[in-house]
Amino acid sequence: MAKRSQLAISALARLGVPRLLDSFWGKRRLTVLAYHRITDATAPDFPHYRPNVSATPEMFARQMAWVAKRFNVISLSVLHAYLTKGRPLPPRPMLITFDDGYLDNYANAFPILKQLHLPAVIFLMTSRMSYPAPPWWDECAFYLNQTAYTQAELPLIGIQDLSTLEARRVATDHLLRALKTVPEAEKLEAVSRVGELLEVPAPSDTPPLFVNWDQVREMVANEVACMPHTVNHPILTRVSAEEAYRELAESKAHIEAQTDQQANAFAYPNGTHADYNTATFRALRDLGYLSAYTLTPGPMRIRDAARHPLQIRRVFLLYKDSFDLFMLKVMGLPALAARARYHSEN
Ligand SMILES: [Zn+2]
Repeated sequence: MAKRSQLAISALARLGVPRLLDSFWGKRRLTVLAYHRITDATAPDFPHYRPNVSATPEMFARQMAWVAKRFNVISLSVLHAYLTKGRPLPPRPMLITFDDGYLDNYANAFPILKQLHLPAVIFLMTSRMSYPAPPWWDECAFYLNQTAYTQAELPLIGIQDLSTLEARRVATDHLLRALKTVPEAEKLEAVSRVGELLEVPAPSDTPPLFVNWDQVREMVANEVACMPHTVNHPILTRVSAEEAYRELAESKAHIEAQTDQQANAFAYPNGTHADYNTATFRALRDLGYLSAYTLTPGPMRIRDAARHPLQIRRVFLLYKDSFDLFMLKVMGLPALAARARYHSEN
């Protein structure tokens, strides 16, 4: 992050903006945190996609200690009791969520949650549970990190500078953004072409990257609900309606067969407004899902969550966030900015 914006963020935090935001949003707001990986992504040879890392274990511990004092961290079943039966929520309710089901959630986040007695939710892509190969975004990052080329012509985005670590990160972001816009089958074909073009063999003999079912059951027994995030992680609007339905149904059935809980909450892959539609809502309702989670910036008013339980907003967290930025995000600065934008455009 640029030094100037870092200074601005700490100035906002010092001037008491988190407290102002807290009073603006009031106690009747639902704050849902969206984490992905909890690991250290700073090593130059970190082999995976960095923007999917939300915090180091140390930063996560600090963040959890802070939210535990300021929010009422609730379990998914408490939220569902409110959404379906109107059972009241405590003031400033917070739900802590993780997407994708990386092993570091179990290894690094779960012990901290357990120590602080904080419930949470992990959204799993069930195809990865016994499958060591990394998902397509980590695979792309691996190819761009490992290649000997200093420049290459890549699918969808053309010639890219790969001469420095920073240039490779920029090219990875650019490539992933482009890949998310094409149909699922075309995307997977392009990913394998990237490996060939950069002359890097597909990663093999990799240690497990995702949680297994024993770890899932242990977490479920300790207040961490494990819920579906599809089978294969396609963007649901980039596959046929039948395939999207199958992704929602099979991941749910698989988790329910492996755990002693109902799998009735869902996180949309990618999570932007363009990544789900009314057919997705119909499928979710039809299958008995009670809530679904986007990456539109939260928090949101509790009554709005009750009105739109399939579009619950979340606070997206990134490993680059300073603690000051974390506080501002959680207190709803990006959500307020998004609201201001919406009102000025409409
Ligand atoms: Zn995901």
